[in-house]
Amino acid sequence: MTRQGSESGVPVTNMGQTDEVRTQRDDAPIRDEDVNRDFKYEVARQVGGEGLLRCLKCGACSGGCPVGAVTDYRPRKVLGNVLLGLKDLVLSSDDIWMCAACFTCEERCVQEVNFTDIVTILRNMAVKDGYAAEGYLEMARTVVEHGRVVPKTFAVDRMREKLELPPLQEPAMDEISKIIQASGFDKILALYKGRDTSK
Ligand code: SF4
Ligand code: SF4
Repeated sequence: MTRQGSESGVPVTNMGQTDEVRTQRDDAPIRDEDVNRDFKYEVARQVGGEGLLRCLKCGACSGGCPVGAVTDYRPRKVLGNVLLGLKDLVLSSDDIWMCAACFTCEERCVQEVNFTDIVTILRNMAVKDGYAAEGYLEMARTVVEHGRVVPKTFAVDRMREKLELPPLQEPAMDEISKIIQASGFDKILALYKGRDTSK
């Protein structure tokens, strides 16, 4: 099996599809050991992932994606690789962290594939497999430490004062810590202790 893409010169057939598989790394061969045949079912079994197996790879999602308009990110390619079973490639890819969750793809999809939910499933799987994006990890660590995604600063305090807004309340760290422990968030973060997750 060979990875090929729309830019590879492969003839295009109905609905913009090639008669060969399309994937992200167009020039690299797919080895049997790269393929996890259960991956698509693993995703489709989860809440929000049910529509995955209906995907026609028509590309309407990629065509309307605002992130794709300014980068080479393409939701169809992510879905194609999931359907091919390229689990490690998908979960270790930067692509799954690029979706802005704007839901345009879901509005355009004739097959009612909930890509935004699927990308959330993929991110959760990636985090559990040690592939969390560093930016998200930093935010997670800030929540654990400060109870906020963005720490409070003097500049924010001053600006609020200037705008005659009330001071920000201190986060209820006791309650936040309980939620972090009950949800297992602390155990997930422990996976990354001392590990370089930058890509
Ligand atoms: S998710 Fe929907 S719009 Fe995107 S390729 Fe699949 S069928 Fe087409
Ligand atoms: S939800 Fe994500 S993949 Fe879909 S159109 Fe918006 S940015 Fe693109």
